[in-house]
Amino acid sequence: MGDSVRNHVSWNCMIAVYGQHGHGRKAMELFQDMARRGFTADACTLASVLSAFATAKDLVADQECGKVAEAKMLFDRMTERNTVSYNSIIAGLAQHGHAAEALKLVEGMLNSEYELTEITFISVLSACSHTGKIDEGWDYFNSMKQKYEIDPCEEHYSCMIDLLARARKFDEAEELITKMPFSLSPVGWTSLLGACRTHGNMELGARATKEILHLSPSNASAPVVLSNMYASAGKWEEAAKIRKLMRDQDIRKKPGCSWIELGRTVHIFVANEVSHPRIKEVYRFLEVMSEKMRLAGYVPDVRWALAKDQTEEGEVRLRHHSEKLAVAFGLMNTKEGEPILVMKNLRICGDCHNAIKIISAITHREITVRDAHRFHCFSDGSCSCGDYW
Ligand SMILES: [Zn+2]
Ligand SMILES: [Zn+2]
Repeated sequence: MGDSVRNHVSWNCMIAVYGQHGHGRKAMELFQDMARRGFTADACTLASVLSAFATAKDLVADQECGKVAEAKMLFDRMTERNTVSYNSIIAGLAQHGHAAEALKLVEGMLNSEYELTEITFISVLSACSHTGKIDEGWDYFNSMKQKYEIDPCEEHYSCMIDLLARARKFDEAEELITKMPFSLSPVGWTSLLGACRTHGNMELGARATKEILHLSPSNASAPVVLSNMYASAGKWEEAAKIRKLMRDQDIRKKPGCSWIELGRTVHIFVANEVSHPRIKEVYRFLEVMSEKMRLAGYVPDVRWALAKDQTEEGEVRLRHHSEKLAVAFGLMNTKEGEPILVMKNLRICGDCHNAIKIISAITHREITVRDAHRFHCFSDGSCSCGDYW
């Protein structure tokens, strides 16, 4: 298409189409291209770009943090803001791990003429949950009905239950599950199980697993999590019982894998990888790194190893989790100071989370891990999720 026939409508269309199909990066590149060619963005364009940003799953590490800033700048520059653009930027910030900034914008919205909608509240509650703001969470949740006449849907309840459980308020979380007019979805139960694992609540963890298996019988990660919880508490018999149940019902765990794109090649790693051509170098790199990590105060957390693995050998296996391998490979093959992005098909494990925080400090690198649940931007020894995930 020549410039002569390109007009605002066609630019807006293209940007919207890319955005709606999850190609956030492409949408934002098109937007930059549009600006370079002298087209000025109108309210419609900006809305599309922001919504592409909110739903983007393909932003890569070296650009991602820049894109967040860019989207925020776009939003600040908008003269005609509306509820939709507010919702887009808030959802984008919350999704990309900038919960505090998302909440700041919500406050801005409260002081403006724009009303918070059902969609805003989902972002708001998940931002509260990621920053551990219980009181604010309750205030927003209660105001939905009282002030905005919005009936909370399952997703709102689910966010609220997640917020409570992450903060160890398990009684309140259970009360809400009983009181809510819906049944909690498998996603809701899964995040509850995650909180139970983090805080060692075996009883509720078992209930969550039962509910998950009832709703999706082939789900293999829930029973694995529960069996690891039992094992880490020394309840071997309980752990074995769950493993037997999985064997009997032929529930198989989806193998965890992590990958990193370098140049145009995608390098995939599974735990204790043997087939990658450079895996020996990776293991050596991690061996050297683990010494530096120990000096920096890292202690391997064997609770994340399998029951039979709580030995020295188990520690090595812990060191060879797929996300650590992919991160190491990224560090070995990029220039100093360059940020890296690793993807994982399951949730990141607690020991890897801790290890990568320390690696980010030792190497002075920004390391982003996109797991099945969210973005983790590690830098300088901490993670953007604030250890809530
Ligand atoms: Zn791990
Ligand atoms: Zn994190």
